[in-house]
Amino acid sequence: MSSQNGQEPLELQRNLTKSRANGLWHLMAGYRWIYLGAIVTLGLAAGMRTASSFLLRFLVDDVLAQGLFDQTLLFVALGFVVIAVFEGTFTFLSGRLAAQTSEGIARRLRDFMFDHIQRLSFAYHDTTQTGELIQRATSDVDAIRRFFAQEATGFGRIVMLFTINFIAIFSLNAQLALISVVIIPFIIIMSYFFFRRISVAYELYQEQEASLSTTLQENLSGVRVVKAFARQEYERDKFERENSERLSRGKRLVRLHSLYWPSSDILAGAQMLLGFFVGAIMTINGTITVGTYMAYTSMVIWIIWPMRMLGRLIVQMSQALVSYDRLMEVVVEEREELTAGTYAPTTSLRGEIVFDNVCFEYEGTSAVLKDISFQCRPGQMVALMGYTGSGKTTLVNLLPRFYEVTGGRLLLDGVALHRYPRRYLRQQIGIVEQEPFLFSRTIEENIAYSAGRSVSEEEIVAAAKAAAIHDVILGFPNGYNTLVGERGVTLSGGQKQRITIARTLLKDPRILILDDATSSVDTETEVSIQDALARLMQNRTSFVIAHRIQTIMAADLILVLDKGRIVQKGTHAELIEQAGIYRDIYDLQAQIEVDLEQEIEGLVAA
Ligand code: ADP
Repeated sequence: MSSQNGQEPLELQRNLTKSRANGLWHLMAGYRWIYLGAIVTLGLAAGMRTASSFLLRFLVDDVLAQGLFDQTLLFVALGFVVIAVFEGTFTFLSGRLAAQTSEGIARRLRDFMFDHIQRLSFAYHDTTQTGELIQRATSDVDAIRRFFAQEATGFGRIVMLFTINFIAIFSLNAQLALISVVIIPFIIIMSYFFFRRISVAYELYQEQEASLSTTLQENLSGVRVVKAFARQEYERDKFERENSERLSRGKRLVRLHSLYWPSSDILAGAQMLLGFFVGAIMTINGTITVGTYMAYTSMVIWIIWPMRMLGRLIVQMSQALVSYDRLMEVVVEEREELTAGTYAPTTSLRGEIVFDNVCFEYEGTSAVLKDISFQCRPGQMVALMGYTGSGKTTLVNLLPRFYEVTGGRLLLDGVALHRYPRRYLRQQIGIVEQEPFLFSRTIEENIAYSAGRSVSEEEIVAAAKAAAIHDVILGFPNGYNTLVGERGVTLSGGQKQRITIARTLLKDPRILILDDATSSVDTETEVSIQDALARLMQNRTSFVIAHRIQTIMAADLILVLDKGRIVQKGTHAELIEQAGIYRDIYDLQAQIEVDLEQEIEGLVAA
């Protein structure tokens, strides 16, 4: 993993989770000077505006009042133009610099989130909805981008406008300056009041939006199931319910906003009128000059306007903070450590595996595996049988350390499994999943995916041939360059399965896990996959989960699991001699075959 602007991902993770201020500061690494530039140019733009007020005062008090209708007037006019040009330039520059910073930060945060999410443990992904994660990696990151693009610079602008103009007015008349800010504390108190409420409302709104995107995402990935069971109405109603909840939460948010803006406007308006009124009386009494009054009226706007905006900003910032906290809920999750391990294998793995009273439970479940004990020598084939939910997949998932054993010992080549680095184990173990998953990339890329290095054309073809899929691939319009999935060919279950077998073959693992690899294919395809699998299993320690006795008859060791325990253990020949689950399944499958044969004979005879 490349470092992100000098910050290693883990360092960034630590800094992000320390405190919000610390996190935002570290996100800005590499952009701090640019951002400072944005703030300074903003200050200069604000200064230009105040300068024009002073020029106005000079125009009224010194030029017009004394009738200097000569060159001075021309200079003053020119001064206004120059000031306007500078103000425009600085404002533009500031916007550019702020955008550069905010886009850079959003990119860094998005990259970080993507990488972080894919490194979280299986246990985390088991309990987290995809829609939730998508929402955080997109919408919440965008809230942080807005924070830097608009809110933080807006805040700087407000502070500077206020300070510069307050000092300027103070220099004209201290009394007037103080009167111009008496109502401001009330604006701040009210803003805080709304800030609290809007934060809560926004959080609820974001949660609902995440739930809505989860619904949508699930519906899209499960579209076949929805159609097959004709459950469109049900799904639509479910979506509509979620959507109307989002609407009502959105309405509450809008209601709070629409209450806040006019209230703050009323206070700001009152403050402005007070200043104008007092200033006018002072002018009439001769305490200040007309020019000073005019300069005052043009500047006091820039005290009150920031205060009004400050409230808005506080409210908007509250949303960024909520988003930040939502992001941190994911960021604090510990990554799966891939490279740490106390054991560094020097020779290649033999593949001897010992389960010694292994127990396992998922977080929050009762024991899923109980006292599992067996061993297998290098190159042997171990078959796992048992009803659904008996713990077969859980057992094989312990081998690559997708989950950690919670009791007993699990040894690989005589060394405790937890001492091996996870990355090493995963390089050594090849898995053909029950549900073959291919990326929407070319077939070639899909096969080469497992290697983690650049592989030659020949190697890919050899793997495809061994997996009995080469001829099928050549039949596609673009051969190995054909795209898989939505934009390319649609593959059958068996074809996908054979591509995943080719993918695993290319990896050349020492240990192989076949999780019900032939469950979703027809018998004819199964025969060709069986050959491919047999080739794949040669000289490797293999764990095979299967339901068909035929598939596992040749195994060196068959384990029959029931409710997390091994209830039978032995070879096919031994197990059919015993009464038990194995023989029941065997008899049942043999009976089905006999029935089938009779049926076929009947059909032929008819
Ligand atoms: P099998 O592969 O034999 O069908 P599994 O290993 O998938 O069985 O499941 C064994 C038990 O563990 C089941 O009761 C299942 O509900 C539970 N289980 C499986 N995966 C998880 C998980 N990620 N979190 C919690 N419980 C799980």
